[in-house]
Amino acid sequence: MIRLSERLSGCEESVTLAITAKAKALKASGRDIIGFGAGEPDFDTPDNIKEAAIKAIRDGQTKYTAVGGINELKDAVIAKFKRDNSLAYGRDEILVSCGGKHSIYNLFQAILNPGDEVIVPAPFWVSYPVMVYLGGGTARIVKTSEKDGFKMSPGAFRAAITEKTKAVVINSPSNPTGAAYTADELADIAKIALEKDLLIISDEIYEKLTYDGFRSSSIASISDDVKKNTVVLNGVSKTYSMTGWRIGYAAGPKAIIQGMTNIQSQSTSNPTSISQWAAVEALNGPQGILDTMVKEFEKRRDAMVDGLNAIKGVGARRPEGAFYVFANIGGALGKRAGEKTVKGSADLANYLLDGVGVAVVPGEPFGDDSFIRLSYATSMQNIVKGVERIKQAIEGLK
Ligand SMILES: *Cc1c(COP(=O)(O)O)cnc(C)c1O
Repeated sequence: MIRLSERLSGCEESVTLAITAKAKALKASGRDIIGFGAGEPDFDTPDNIKEAAIKAIRDGQTKYTAVGGINELKDAVIAKFKRDNSLAYGRDEILVSCGGKHSIYNLFQAILNPGDEVIVPAPFWVSYPVMVYLGGGTARIVKTSEKDGFKMSPGAFRAAITEKTKAVVINSPSNPTGAAYTADELADIAKIALEKDLLIISDEIYEKLTYDGFRSSSIASISDDVKKNTVVLNGVSKTYSMTGWRIGYAAGPKAIIQGMTNIQSQSTSNPTSISQWAAVEALNGPQGILDTMVKEFEKRRDAMVDGLNAIKGVGARRPEGAFYVFANIGGALGKRAGEKTVKGSADLANYLLDGVGVAVVPGEPFGDDSFIRLSYATSMQNIVKGVERIKQAIEGLK
């Protein structure tokens, strides 16, 4: 038997994947399952983007490219930052990776030394703490609360900083809460980060998916000093419904981007050449898909939040962005379903799946066990039907 690496002990298969797999198996066996687990938009990738990929294949763009991305895509990314965020970057300050997730992985590999701490506000995207760990660092989790809009206060941030703190992760709008920081709130965070000379890691992958007129702003655009201490992560997955194409990007100080590029050069090399050309079209071409998605998501968000708030024992904050509702199910915990007591979010998720055929993601892996995550990247019909089933199930607990 080959002994596996000790590193793996901190990198287990996620609870999220386990419940998704169970939902899939039930569906395959013929059960009527409504899925609120999706972590990707349910829209098709727009045709102009698909055509750009087909053209790239026909034109023979099928070989290795520069490790950090073709110049045409770097220039499209640079133009995006100018247009949307008033940020000016050069090509040597941009890295294109195999998804935004890959950029973040490269970043932690490039900046962390053993013992370094990274501040991660909870609820967090499940991959941050694991990627910090794989980079040899330690995630320092800062709990935020629903009543503070799931946002880290300047006081809580300051209190979490130690001698060993190297960086802070800000994900706005957030997965799983959908919460987004205002420009003023970002300025408060940035001020402390600069004072303590911390790197700001700003994951802006949901930047364009915001509602009720909320406009997301990049923390890097606060000032030149902040920009010098910030790496911005973004990508085409969520904005253009291109999750399978695997293109994400990072922008930041030259030395860090060079380090990240070196890591990438020794692992994956360039992201897929064809997808890079598709991403050029996504960023430079017509932006119509965004209007369609945002309008539709906003309606669905309202239906889901209103429906959940009508359930006794459930509370849902109306999020500013992304396509998730992080619902408080504290009122259902400790109650009984037959012989079983619903102790935490995983018990509740299993109860909803087994009992009424609704798949949700437990909040525990995101850092809060009194919540479940529901994605509204599904049809309005499913939302109405699924929320009704959740109501029956939860109000049926004793
Ligand atoms: C989806 C997601 C990403 C990146 O996704 P990629 O498909 O790898 O670009 C990054 N951060 C968060 C919080 C996400 O939800």
